[in-house]
Amino acid sequence: MSEIWDVIVVGAGTAGLPTAIHAGQRGAKVLVVEVSDRVGGTLHLSSGSFSAAGTSLQRSKNIDDSPEKHFNDGLRINHGTGNKTMMRLWQDHAAAAYEWLMSIGMQYPDNQPEAVRGHEPYDTPRIYTPVNAGVGYIAPLKNAFEAEVAKGNVKLLLKTEMTDLIIDPAKGVQGVKVKSADGKIEDIHGRNVVLAAGGYANNEAMWREIHNRPRRVYTNAQSMGTGIQVARKYGAQLEGAEEIIMTFGGTQCLDDPSKVWIHAKTQPSMRDPWEIYVNLKGERFMAEDERNPDVRERALMLQDDWACWCIYDQSIVDKSPSPFFLWEPEKVARAFATNPNYRKANTLDELATLTGLPAKALKETVKRYNDGQAVGADAFDRKFMPAPITTGPFYAVKLYSITVVSFAGVTVDTNLRILDAAKKPIPNLYAVGEMLGMGIFGNAYLGGSSVSGAITLGRLLGNKLLSWSQTGALAAE
Ligand SMILES: Cc1cc2nc3c(=O)[nH]c(=O)nc-3n(C[C@H](O)[C@H](O)[C@H](O)COP(=O)(O)OP(=O)(O)OC[C@H]3O[C@@H](n4cnc5c(N)ncnc54)[C@H](O)[C@@H]3O)c2cc1C
Repeated sequence: MSEIWDVIVVGAGTAGLPTAIHAGQRGAKVLVVEVSDRVGGTLHLSSGSFSAAGTSLQRSKNIDDSPEKHFNDGLRINHGTGNKTMMRLWQDHAAAAYEWLMSIGMQYPDNQPEAVRGHEPYDTPRIYTPVNAGVGYIAPLKNAFEAEVAKGNVKLLLKTEMTDLIIDPAKGVQGVKVKSADGKIEDIHGRNVVLAAGGYANNEAMWREIHNRPRRVYTNAQSMGTGIQVARKYGAQLEGAEEIIMTFGGTQCLDDPSKVWIHAKTQPSMRDPWEIYVNLKGERFMAEDERNPDVRERALMLQDDWACWCIYDQSIVDKSPSPFFLWEPEKVARAFATNPNYRKANTLDELATLTGLPAKALKETVKRYNDGQAVGADAFDRKFMPAPITTGPFYAVKLYSITVVSFAGVTVDTNLRILDAAKKPIPNLYAVGEMLGMGIFGNAYLGGSSVSGAITLGRLLGNKLLSWSQTGALAAE
């Protein structure tokens, strides 16, 4: 009979690696199956911000913080939404995960932690971001993982896709079905299966089914939601779909038009805006200098197609600092020459034709803004208005509501066991990481919650929650 693993982890990413490392350290025989040809998952792309309260670094800097404060501040930011039990489970164990990361060689720059990273600021500095972003986690995690592989506790199968679960109606989940790169299908048996296969943000059909809203994402190619789909097949329930909040102001990538990313400084904390934003009706809808990211995010999500055009003129190009912080001037010029999301025209009428905006409304909007700018009084109470928009050529850049994560995920209990419609655990089946959906942390971005949630709960699962007794009895927390 082929080997029966104590634990099968699906996905060698942000959550899967700590799960496997800790289960291996406890003596479990662990098999990790990973569809891609490398470990690390979304960490290869992620900005890598990690939040935790009550850490040794905070204490050394006299920052008074605790999981309780993190929780209460989180509820302020997310307006009391989300799954409070899961939020607390993560926050209560995040500092221990931070200390563990430091013990395996993680490094953050001296100026950490911070209170803010792009989203609504925390009231206390509790966000840690490596110099080289998410990639900074990969070497420490990989080294700790390889140490367990070397001990013989853990085995990794790369280029191996989990396609289904093996289910025994009497005993529950008994393993996984996998497909290797050469197309070979195989059953692998295990006492516990941990789905750490990431989110579904890269799956257009799944996004449409769950949200039926525009999908503008920058995410891992493997974030196809297979883990969630397979779990749903056996009764897993989805939660968090309504807790959707998209980041303000992504623009289309030039090399891959299916992707959007923050190429321009659209947050006033990075650059005060000289431009105006008009929706697809050609009308302004917010004070462009609004500093609260949460207010900005919601304002754009109220507009048709979750999109708007950022309008400016040549004098703004000449006088203001360039908003395109990631692009050299040549790339900006290429965008306007080749991509219909970036438009330049000698007149506002011509710009309206190129963007599809109604010309009359666009011209009236620009005139109203200029009139207000001249006397320092704006219809939206905007304060930063350094220049009118009068001098051609005129420019328009399409801004979108974007996301790097998926929001819905499978419902779990505090042991991270996946629950069915009757709220009963599906025996031997666990989920962790973005599989839980970022909506569990509510209808707002809690800075650093996805990476920290994935690593913290992955560690907790491997370290404590998993049980691999032959009888299948599950450990209580
Ligand atoms: C550009 C970007 C910036 C971000 N910045 C931040 C940030 O600063 N802070 C923050 O908190 N979060 C951030 N996030 C989100 C965060 O990085 C992710 O939510 C988190 O890394 C997801 O961890 P995970 O373990 O759930 O998934 P992953 O790390 O993606 O791991 C899942 C793994 O499962 C594998 N897999 C998928 N399907 C299968 C299958 N069927 N069989 C076998 N293997 C499979 C994948 O290949 C992958 O290796 C960012 C994300 C992106 C894309």
